Amino acid sequence: MSSVHIIGGGVAGYTLARELVRHNYAGTITISDPQGLPYDRPPLSKTLQAEPFAPAAWYAEHGISLLPEMVEDLPLPDSEDDWVVLATGTTPALLQVPGAQHARTLHTAADAAALAQVLDSSMFGLQVLVIGAGLIGAEFASTAKMLGAQVTLVSNTEAPLASVLGQDLAQQLHADHAQRGIRTITGAVASIEAGHAVVDGERLDAELIVSAIGVQPETSLAAALGLGIDDGIVVDGEQRSPSHRQVLAIGDAARVQGARRAVHWEAAMQDAAQAAATIMNAAPVQRSVPWFWTDRHEMHVETVGEFSQAATTIIRRNRRGKIQTVFGLDHGGTLVAASMVDGGLMAKAVKRLIARGITPSIEQLEDPSVGPRELGRNER
Ligand SMILES: Cc1cc2nc3c(=O)[nH]c(=O)nc-3n(C[C@H](O)[C@H](O)[C@H](O)COP(=O)(O)OP(=O)(O)OC[C@H]3O[C@@H](n4cnc5c(N)ncnc54)[C@H](O)[C@@H]3O)c2cc1C
Repeated sequence: MSSVHIIGGGVAGYTLARELVRHNYAGTITISDPQGLPYDRPPLSKTLQAEPFAPAAWYAEHGISLLPEMVEDLPLPDSEDDWVVLATGTTPALLQVPGAQHARTLHTAADAAALAQVLDSSMFGLQVLVIGAGLIGAEFASTAKMLGAQVTLVSNTEAPLASVLGQDLAQQLHADHAQRGIRTITGAVASIEAGHAVVDGERLDAELIVSAIGVQPETSLAAALGLGIDDGIVVDGEQRSPSHRQVLAIGDAARVQGARRAVHWEAAMQDAAQAAATIMNAAPVQRSVPWFWTDRHEMHVETVGEFSQAATTIIRRNRRGKIQTVFGLDHGGTLVAASMVDGGLMAKAVKRLIARGITPSIEQLEDPSVGPRELGRNER
């Protein structure tokens, strides 16, 4: 009987299993992950709770075996009917300063539960220091503040996430932390001890220190298997490793040759859909325009497209002068990216416009009275 062994039960691994079920895959499906029942990571920094994708009964119903194990090595498939799929995700980057072990990270359900316990068990006013103001650091800082903590957020740049949200919105969102009562500091952490950290010569007392300085692809198993690795497990457009045709890699751990590695939820799902198509010998998956979201201080922020391709930005403001949407245009004046605050319909509209290569006029982009449906209506 044919088989698919998925290593890693994050959104990529789970989505692959779900897609294989949808394709009526007739072989055996196994998911190995030491964390047990697969769960989704984005809620961890927003609610400090893990949300399983499906109950254990769903896996039993579809004959999917869940093995609670860390895979350190395994035999590679020697038949065209068997597949190994690496969906090993990322691990948090660790601070390289003395005392770094005193800082916690937020990457797993256990991390979130431990942080929730500290925050819940203390009276209002727990001093929390968050190092790193990227997606996870900013979200956790906002969640801790909401739970009554006194939060200090340290960033080594004035506009964290500028490369993915666009400079203007990144600056506004970072400034919002201060308006919500979070102390923000731009600087570098020199050392940490139990109860405090030193940032640019200043001692910052904190009962809880969380480091959120980024993630790196988890490639140790791929390395043990001798697969090609270059900022992630290298794969082709079918998610196959060039080192072994029956080994696929998907999600945050994988990087398609010639492209930048995506580290977002939706991209991981699309990799998984492509892996299912490869295994089932079905038509390749049409990738949508990149999209991700982040939630902080009750604001829902979305980014569509790639700000790395933008040469200029057009800003649309609301009546209070706050940035509502930032549009990114490339050197040729084509719309390539946009970030918006609480603009779900706008995000969908921009996704469509970018996919069709339509660029609305600058006047339309700037004008808040032009709704998502009207945007680009008369353009080609
Ligand atoms: C706190 C947090 C908040 C986030 N919020 C957002 C958000 O708001 N928006 C957004 O777009 N993205 C967000 N992300 C990113 C998003 O969750 C990831 O892009 C997504 O989880 C990637 O899925 P994945 O399946 O590739 O990897 P992961 O979800 O990292 O799963 C990988 C799994 O592989 C397992 N594993 C690793 N090595 C082995 C091994 N050798 N053997 C067995 N199992 C192994 C791990 O235990 C892990 O469960 C967030 C991430 C985190 C951590």
